[in-house]
Formats: sequence, structure tokens, C-alpha cells
Amino acid sequence: MIIDLHTHAFPEKIAARTLEVLIANTARISDYPMKNYTDGTASGLLEVERRAGVDLAVVLPIVTNPKQSETINRVAKETNDANCGLYSFGSLHPADPDALSWVDKLAAEGFKGIKLHPEFQNIYADSDEMTAVCRRAAQYGMTVVLHAGRDIGYLPPVKTEPDMLLRLIDRVPDLKLVAAHLGGWMMWEEVAEKLVGTPIYFDTAFIADFIDKAAARDIINAHGADKVLFGSDAPWEDPAKTLKFLRSLSIDPEDLKKICGKNAAGLLGI
Ligand SMILES: [Zn+2]
Repeated sequence: MIIDLHTHAFPEKIAARTLEVLIANTARISDYPMKNYTDGTASGLLEVERRAGVDLAVVLPIVTNPKQSETINRVAKETNDANCGLYSFGSLHPADPDALSWVDKLAAEGFKGIKLHPEFQNIYADSDEMTAVCRRAAQYGMTVVLHAGRDIGYLPPVKTEPDMLLRLIDRVPDLKLVAAHLGGWMMWEEVAEKLVGTPIYFDTAFIADFIDKAAARDIINAHGADKVLFGSDAPWEDPAKTLKFLRSLSIDPEDLKKICGKNAAGLLGI
């Protein structure tokens, strides 16, 4: 079973516009030819994932304003009830005074995980608010996927540096924490030095064009394939490309199976 643990989809009405805005924001600070590989909708995502041979794609919505929590989590719940090859995590804003009750609510609705994004949410990964949310999520055994490292659409200061992740996992040691983008986008030397060997999971989203193969292989092998999860970041990368990249790294075939699905199945309880 192949599981893409890091994808995005937006409601039909706003999908096209959302992609446009995100691409325009990136173009202001980066030369990278950012492009969408799906039309931004759930059905578009499903089509691209099926073409890549993916059995299940995990959608990671991001609440950037507490007012969106209700709608975003309702759509997420509908996605899960539809049982269509997509599974959505919930989201909340850590600075929302209701953040902890949102964790309770999501747990009660059966959500297996929460996505948080310190850049989009303008809050540091090791802040008290973030720590409190993670502590509550850990009590329910929920997975927290955190954007990590630089973001292509944001200028420094970086709000999820390896040191911050170390502090967070130190405070909440039983948290199933996933640091996206192989532990920290464009900060892989520091990841290799500080995060390799910790209990933090890494996903492989949006790295194929930015990291050299030897560096990626070294981090994965040193960290342990049990804690690495295939994620594409679709629509921003074609999952077929991410899989091709992972298969080209000469990783042990059993390890590759863990990375491409087994580990994620464990986190999702399937
Ligand atoms: Zn992403």
C-alpha cells in the first residue's frame, strides 16, 4: 500500500484562486518555477495520486485564521466520511484561545492527526501555544505534521528550525511528530547534525528538486527508514516524481516499503 502523507486540496470554489495567490506569493521572493500539478481540488488530487499508483493520500489543511477552523474541519470530516482514497487531517490555530478544545473536538471526531504550519500561522514551533497543542494531541495519540525549515514563500526568520524541534520533542517526548520536508527544508546540514536519530518522523515533501541524492540517502539511512514517510506536497510536486526520486536513492527495498506506506499506515492505524 502506497500512502502519500503530505498533500493539499482546497474547496472547489476557491481552489483556482488559492493556487494563483500561493504561486504569486512565492514568485515575489523565489526564482523557482513554482507550478501546480493538480487543479487544487480534492478530485484533481485523487486523479494525480491514482495515476502515480498511490492508494491513499493524506490531505493537510492549514487554519491560518481561527475563524476558518469550523469550515476547514467540517470539510476535512466530510472527506474522511466519503472514504474515497483521501484522508484529511484536521487543523487549528495554536494562538486561538480555543485551540485545546479544537484538539479535543478533532480527537472526538476520530481524526488521526493535525497539521500545523508555523510560517503560515506566524507562530514559532517551540512557542508555549504550540507546545500546549502538541501536548494535548499526544494525549490522544494523534500525529502532528509540522512544516519544517525554510518555506519557499517566506523570508527568514525561520519559525521551525531544528533546535526548535528538539525543544518541542524534549517537552513532549511521546508526541508522534512529523517534521515535513525531510526535517527542515533547505536546512539539511543542520538536520543531519541535530535531528538525525531523534524520535521525530521526517516526510519527503517537496525536496526532490532541492536536495542532492547522496545527502537525502545519507539522512534517511542515518535517521532510520522507520521514521521516514513518503509525502509529495501535491499540488506543488507530482507524487509520481517524488516516488521516482525515492526509488532512485538505492535504499534497501524493505526500507523503501516502510517509507512508501508501512510507516504511515502505522500512524494512521490501518
Ligand atoms: Zn505542504
